[in-house]
Amino acid sequence: MSAKMHAAVVEEFGKPLVFREVDIPEPGRGQILIKTEACGVCHTDLHAAKGDWPVKPNPPFTPGHEGIGRVVAVGADVTIVRAGDRVGVPWLYSACGHCEYCLTAWETVCAEAEFGGYTKNGGFAEYILADPNYVAHIPSGLSAQEAAPLICAGITTYKGLKMTEARPGEWVVVSGAGGLGHLAIQYAKAMGLQVCAVDIDDGKLALARKLGADFSVNATREDAGEAVSKGTNGGAHGVLITAPSLGAFKQGVGMTRKRGTCVLVGLPPGDFPVPLFDVVANCITIRGSFVGNREDMAEALAFAADGKVKADIELQPLTAINDVFDRLEHGKVAARVVLDFTTG
Ligand code: NAD
Ligand code: ZN
Ligand code: ZN
Repeated sequence: MSAKMHAAVVEEFGKPLVFREVDIPEPGRGQILIKTEACGVCHTDLHAAKGDWPVKPNPPFTPGHEGIGRVVAVGADVTIVRAGDRVGVPWLYSACGHCEYCLTAWETVCAEAEFGGYTKNGGFAEYILADPNYVAHIPSGLSAQEAAPLICAGITTYKGLKMTEARPGEWVVVSGAGGLGHLAIQYAKAMGLQVCAVDIDDGKLALARKLGADFSVNATREDAGEAVSKGTNGGAHGVLITAPSLGAFKQGVGMTRKRGTCVLVGLPPGDFPVPLFDVVANCITIRGSFVGNREDMAEALAFAADGKVKADIELQPLTAINDVFDRLEHGKVAARVVLDFTTG
């Protein structure tokens, strides 16, 4: 009989996760097995469990794409990762390695890409199977718990800020100051940008200012476009929308400076209207951004290893996941919950 592990499994969309004892997977050729130390809970995991997006995962599956742990077993032909290494199993679980996108470091849009905790079982489990070519290598100065949010929320916002093409001294808006946003603010400051945080919750905005935001706007009380335009003297050069709410997307163009770039990162289900005349007449760029490549991952982790970015984390056991999802859905998580597998 093979050894067992605990996992939190989506058996049906929109239903609570079910705690199961399942077989610990065995690494085949070219695979590695990781013993989970920590796994962050991203709003994407909630979208996955609800089946929110047009491309759906196939239940039963185990969510989690911020899983960090030690490599405990390596399959045949694995050379770049060794037993004992601390690695992370990110959203970009694997890609083909030789299509036009992989060849140009855009492996995130590879047609054969697999996604951790979505098309492959993820980190809401005591062990994770991974592809050694795509794991994140965790710098020695970071604990598993503090590294966890960086391998999705961190890389996604760091890359998204780069995609705004805002330059040091210029303004960016971070819309949505939650798990992604609280890191975006810190990356933006470390990149020499001026930051306005927009959210609908005063507690999130207070944290945003504490983390370095130059000013903040509560979009339920003020017209975000007007407030940003006033505070930045004409709109932000870059706007990063992380909020999982279509309302925030509708406001994006109104906060963007002429010739500026509005980067869409949040993924609420549905569509939003684009004010075509404003986009055309103000020469505004709207673009999507999806996590980041492996070089972005190393850079995003290096900021944290250098002490310039620090995730604000709340530790919880795996058994709390349904309660954590409920709080996340209702905006009641302060920044990022990390499931801690090292206690209990
Ligand atoms: P979160 O729940 O931790 O944070 C969301 C924040 O948005 C909260 O602070 C909330 O108060 C705020 N918010 C809600 N409505 C708002 C509004 N109308 N205006 C301004 N702020 C508002 O979620 P998260 O983990 O940060 O994830 C956010 C979104 O990003 C999700 O949709 C997730 O799927 C997506 N995501 C995308 C990528 C990518 O690669 N593009 C990667 C990770 C996550
Ligand atoms: Zn994520
Ligand atoms: Zn490819």
